[in-house]
Amino acid sequence: MLYDLHTHSTASDGTLSPSELVRYAVSKGVDVLALTDHDTTNGLKEARDMAKQAGITLINGAEISVSWGNTTVHILGLGIDPASNPLQKGLTDLCEFRQWRAEEIARKLEKAGVPDAMNGARKYARGGLISRTHFARYLVECGKARDIAEVFKKYLVSGRPGHVAGQWASLETVVSWIMEAGGEAVIAHPARYKMSATKLRRLIEEFKAVGGVGLEVGLCNQSANQLRDMAQYARRYSMLASQGSDYHGPENPWIDLGKLQALPSGCEPIWAHWS
Ligand code: AMP
Ligand code: MN
Ligand code: MN
Ligand code: MN
Repeated sequence: MLYDLHTHSTASDGTLSPSELVRYAVSKGVDVLALTDHDTTNGLKEARDMAKQAGITLINGAEISVSWGNTTVHILGLGIDPASNPLQKGLTDLCEFRQWRAEEIARKLEKAGVPDAMNGARKYARGGLISRTHFARYLVECGKARDIAEVFKKYLVSGRPGHVAGQWASLETVVSWIMEAGGEAVIAHPARYKMSATKLRRLIEEFKAVGGVGLEVGLCNQSANQLRDMAQYARRYSMLASQGSDYHGPENPWIDLGKLQALPSGCEPIWAHWS
């Protein structure tokens, strides 16, 4: 069985629609797919309808933005009920913050000589929520950088002209939304935050203390050392191990749906106890 438990659609910053994503997952041999859009569950219904038709299992998910001190951390909710009120209220607040932040980013980019950035980002968001990725695509279109990675470096990260700090929800709050929605909370791509070992251990301890159960161990493109280290944290803290490609669409050729590192031995897969 092939599990890919971290993917994005056009409901957030992916470029395939939920049904295109599901069809693509089938073509890649994925048996169990979680759609985990940033701060929204809006793609889940379409994905579910297509998954039913195509005969694969869809896990209702979301990747929720958290402010933990000065760091933005992403928490996956897997197996959530999208009808849950506290969850939807929370996601609505986050999306309102996103809207405000997008206008701020556009204003700052305008000052830095990028015209009409709000409309540019909106065009790429196609009616979904607005992410920095949508600004990045517009900036590449304007010739401001060669590729998305360069845009982030030049414009969208701390200290750069289009940066606006995130004010997301707290770790405890987000885990509580996920738990109240009947889901399991997982720390997404823990190695990507580039935290010191001490800080990452503190994050895991605080996360566990408020009810978090999983660590995303298997990714598409992390180093063998990172995989080994994250597996060690999962074992040491008795966290369930998740895996996901963080697929955003075909534009990024080095990440593919269902292309995943095998979980190292001794890791307890999060799906082992799913019925
Ligand atoms: P946001 O949640 O709107 O702040 O946007 C975060 C998203 O931007 C992430 O989920 C990634 O998809 C994308 N992203 C962040 N940093 C980079 C980067 N250095 N290169 C490419 N994409 C990035
Ligand atoms: Mn993203
Ligand atoms: Mn993420
Ligand atoms: Mn993601």
